[in-house]
Amino acid sequence: MTLTASELSRYHRHLALPELGRAGQERLKNARVVVVGAGGLGSPAALYLAAAGVGTLGLVDCDRVELSNLQRQVLFDTAAVGRLKTEVARERLLALNPEITVIAHTLTLRAENVLEVLRDYDLVLDGTDRLATRYLVNDACVLLGKPLVSAAIHRFEGHAMTYVPGRGPCYRCLFPAAEEGLVASCSEAGVLGVLPGVLGAIQATEAVKIVTGIGEPIVGRLVTYDALELRFVELPVARRADCAVCGEHRTITAPQDTGEVCDSAALSRVRRLTAIALRDLLTSEASGSSGLALIDVREPHEFDTRHLQGARNIPLADLERRLGELEAARMPIFLCRSGRRSLTACAIALRAGIEAPAHLEGGLLAWTAEVDPAFEVAPG
Ligand SMILES: [Zn+2]
Repeated sequence: MTLTASELSRYHRHLALPELGRAGQERLKNARVVVVGAGGLGSPAALYLAAAGVGTLGLVDCDRVELSNLQRQVLFDTAAVGRLKTEVARERLLALNPEITVIAHTLTLRAENVLEVLRDYDLVLDGTDRLATRYLVNDACVLLGKPLVSAAIHRFEGHAMTYVPGRGPCYRCLFPAAEEGLVASCSEAGVLGVLPGVLGAIQATEAVKIVTGIGEPIVGRLVTYDALELRFVELPVARRADCAVCGEHRTITAPQDTGEVCDSAALSRVRRLTAIALRDLLTSEASGSSGLALIDVREPHEFDTRHLQGARNIPLADLERRLGELEAARMPIFLCRSGRRSLTACAIALRAGIEAPAHLEGGLLAWTAEVDPAFEVAPG
C-alpha cells in the first residue's frame, strides 16, 4: 500500500527523516501491531503508534475505565469512567488518526486464545500488569516467532526489553520462573503517574524501529529506568540454553495458563521487614549470636558510596550464580535502594530453596527516612 496525499502531509516529519523516509512510512502503514493491556504503558504506546501511522493497531484489554486509572492512563478522560477500555481507546485513536484501523480485542488472553489473537500481528507490545499474562504472551511470541517488546513498572522504576526471534533472550530467559518476576506486577504499591509514559514511549520507539528496520533494538539489554534519580541503567541479558520456551530442550511447546502468581505460597514466604523492624533485629543481633546475613543487592558503585555496617554486596545480576556463598545457618536479609531489587532477590532465593528470605521494605530510602536521616542513600 502506498501513501495517499493526506498521509504524505500527516507524516511529513517522518518523511523528512532520510533513515525512515517514504519506504519506512509505507512499512508502518502495512504493519500490524498489537498492544496487550490498555493501561499505563499501553496508553502512550498506542497513542504514539496510532500517530506514527501503524496501519493496523490491535488492543487487548477486558477492563473498564476507573477513576484511579486517569492519573496515568492518558488514553482516557473523566467522561470515559465506567466504559470498556478497548471501546474508548478505539474511538480516541481513530479520532487521532482516521487513516488507520484499530481492532478492539475485549478479552483476557488465556492459553486457549492467545495464539489465535496474536497470530495475525507482526509485532507484540506487552503492557500488562498481570504476571501470568506476561509469561503467556512471551511464550506465545516465542512459539509464533513474533518480536515482543516488554515493559514493566513499579513505584518509581521500570524496565524494558525487546525479544526478536533468533536474535536474543526472551522474557523467560530473564526471569525463568514466574516467582522472580512477580515483584513488579503484584505489589499493591503505588506508581508515579508519569513513569509508564516513559516506558510506554520506549515500547513505541522499539516498535517503530523494528517495523521500519532502523536503529538497534534493546535485544539482550534490559534497560532499567529510575525516575527519582532520572537514571537509565542497562543490564546485559544472555539467552539461556535451558530456557523452558526458547532453549535447546524446550518443555513449553504450547501456551499454558499459570494462574495468578500474586497469591502464590511463594510470595507469602518472603519476610518483609520495615526499617524499624530491621533496626530492632540488628540491635538485638549485636548482643547475641549472629544468625543474620545482610545482603546488599545494589550495584558495586552504589554499595561503595554508602552501605549498612556488616552488609555484604552481591549485585542482583550475580545473585543466582553466587547463592552458594550464603551460609545456610544465617537468614539472608536482602536490601537495595527502594526495595524492588531486594524483593526480586527474595524470589531468586526462594526458587533456589532458601526458606523464608527477608527483605527491607522500601529499601535504604526507607532506612534513611525512618531510622537514620544521616545515611543519605546513594543514587541508584
Ligand atoms: Zn527464553
